[in-house]
Order: sequence, then C-alpha cells, then structure tokens
Amino acid sequence: MDWLEHLVYRNGHFLGIEWGWWKVIGWLGNVVFFSRFIVQWYATEKRKQVVVPAAFWWLSLVGSLLLLSYALFSQHDSVFIFAYAFTWLPYIRNLIIHQRHADAQLGCSGCGALCPPKSNFCSACGVGLKTLPGKLQH
Ligand SMILES: [Zn+2]
Repeated sequence: MDWLEHLVYRNGHFLGIEWGWWKVIGWLGNVVFFSRFIVQWYATEKRKQVVVPAAFWWLSLVGSLLLLSYALFSQHDSVFIFAYAFTWLPYIRNLIIHQRHADAQLGCSGCGALCPPKSNFCSACGVGLKTLPGKLQH
C-alpha cells in the first residue's frame, strides 16, 4: 500500500497540500459549496421534479462567503475575488423569497397541513380553505 500512502501523504503534507488556517477555510468553503449540489439532487429525486430547497441557498451563501474570504485574504487573486464577490446577492434574495413563500402558505383547519398560497382546497384532506383577505397575499 505504498502508493496509497504516497497519495494521501505526499511531500511531507496531507494530500500534498501545505495546510494553514486559510487553507482549511478555503477547503471548508469548497466542501460546503459542493454539498449544495448533493442536497439539490436529493430533493429533486425525492419529489421527481426539479426542486431547489432553501438549504441549497444557505449552502451556496455560506460556501461562497468562505471562498470569498479565502480569495480576499489569502489568495489576493482578482479573478478569484470577482468570481465570488457578488454571488451572495441572488442567494440572499432567493432566501427572502423562499421565506415569504413559506409565510404565505395556508394552514388547513381540518388536518393542519400547509398548502400552497392561494389554494382553494387542502392538498392533503380536500377541505375548503378560507383565505383571509389582506393577510396572505404578498
Ligand atoms: Zn387538510
């Protein structure tokens, strides 16, 4: 297993990488940023339709901010900095819209299920939903 040892521990460094605090933060950013695809894929397979869960935007936001700080304070690379400088804007916007949509959902008085905004009938039990004027439409 000499080759494995060589692969994992190369030139006196784990994975051949010279580790420091910024390297840890940069790699953590990579892991968080990459995990969002797995979360989104899982949600889509589960529902058998394309779904982008709020967790996807949270992972995007946290991952991109970690990578941005790595680019800013460790790499000082203008290309790398620009790549992550503004991505947090749509992530935060999407999180706000997600939250508004969650707030606008209708609670069924019959079974307690949360139904999409403006639905007339409960998607779980079929009971008619009464919309309260002014409260639910954003
Ligand atoms: Zn119901």
